Amino acid sequence: MKSEGGFEIYEKVPAGGPEWTTRRENEALRELEPAEKIFGHSFLREWQFLNKEGEEWEAFAANPAGQRYLSQRIAAREKAYKRTLEEFTRELTDLANRHPDKLEIFFEAYAERAAAFERPEQTESEAKKEATGKIINSYKKGVPGAGPDFLAGILKQRELEIKTAKEALKPEFETYREKLIAELTAASKEGARSDSETRREPRPDSGRQAAERKQIPVSAEIVKERLLNLRIVFVDEIAVDLKEAWGDYAKLANTVRISTRVPRAERWRVFVHEALHAVSGQVEVAAESAGSNNHNFVFHDQIKFGLHFDKADRPGPSYLSLWWLNEAVTQNLTDRFAGQGKESVEQKLAALLVSKGVPAELFEAAYFENYEAKPRGEHRLPQTKRLFEAADKIFGQGFLMQLDHYLRMKSRGVDKKDRKYVIASIILEWQDRGDQFPQMVRALSEFDFEGLRSRRQDKRRK
Ligand SMILES: [Zn+2]
Repeated sequence: MKSEGGFEIYEKVPAGGPEWTTRRENEALRELEPAEKIFGHSFLREWQFLNKEGEEWEAFAANPAGQRYLSQRIAAREKAYKRTLEEFTRELTDLANRHPDKLEIFFEAYAERAAAFERPEQTESEAKKEATGKIINSYKKGVPGAGPDFLAGILKQRELEIKTAKEALKPEFETYREKLIAELTAASKEGARSDSETRREPRPDSGRQAAERKQIPVSAEIVKERLLNLRIVFVDEIAVDLKEAWGDYAKLANTVRISTRVPRAERWRVFVHEALHAVSGQVEVAAESAGSNNHNFVFHDQIKFGLHFDKADRPGPSYLSLWWLNEAVTQNLTDRFAGQGKESVEQKLAALLVSKGVPAELFEAAYFENYEAKPRGEHRLPQTKRLFEAADKIFGQGFLMQLDHYLRMKSRGVDKKDRKYVIASIILEWQDRGDQFPQMVRALSEFDFEGLRSRRQDKRRK
């Protein structure tokens, strides 16, 4: 999947052919199953073949088609095995440097093999710790920390573990699906569209209180449609970079991915959070452009996803994301359906907007709003518009966009996992500066816009 001009390109297929519509989905799904990428079957398959075991070997051995053929195959496999081992080592080295924690998970449970081998006199936990540390350090330096037999043994066990976990989790999450459909349809109301209701005098209160009191502005039909069609897959989190703790939601494939290591106590909560992303209001755009040789490109992009906006002309000065507000509202709703959790910094920042007068119900109305084809002149996302207008009225024109830009500005060079500190510092700044805060945010983000613009023009001149 490439990115071109801000769009993700999903396909380049002959226009009108049968693949025209199905390719995009396949492409999105392929992205979802990379568990084999690192701890892949290919390494294990080669290893099994060379050690004359596994299904593939049995199939060969059962066929008396000739020793010559078999020995040729083994020679070919030996080459492939060496290549796979090199790749595998490279990938582990990469993982050791980028995510040593993941490699630790991978080796920890099995390190006693190495430990028993090296120093039988140590206690088990000491030995494990030492052996794991040794292996990881060696991979960090690019020196393979364990032999092929050892790795193949770990892979075999890991594969079995993941398979067992997947089988156990599947029925459990199916019951969560049923449960959430029942709870969301019971709380659903169509009412967000009625003007008389949203025009009633808004009472400033925290988003959390409002969520407890209110029904949710989404129809039972949408809840059922999205949740019944939702794919739930379980992945080895070591091999897959999940976007959130224990899980994530892939919007274009309508798929929730859950780590096979998700603790029992967290499961319902994790599912509710990710599934709410699926139920949230979405706007997807697809654009065609003619290519050469009767091949056309089709671009797909989701420009609204709950309250997360993804404008195609990223990442210019007018780019709007609001990912943090989307997470805040998702988490407020999760608290309502899965029980109160620890308040996140995103929730705190959203609650600050509410405490300054943005009506809490507007966040949910905009969050659940889907694009609707409306007659000319009518706004296609009236609830979303209303939220922005409410913020404009209180904080000044364009405030949400400026705040979003300010956050992005302060996040430059900050690790994704440390973004929470950036949000926390913004909350403190707002509390300290009070009513002067919006003014400061406007001035700083405009100053930065200018910088961005001139940097872009310089680039173009070159
Ligand atoms: Zn989320």
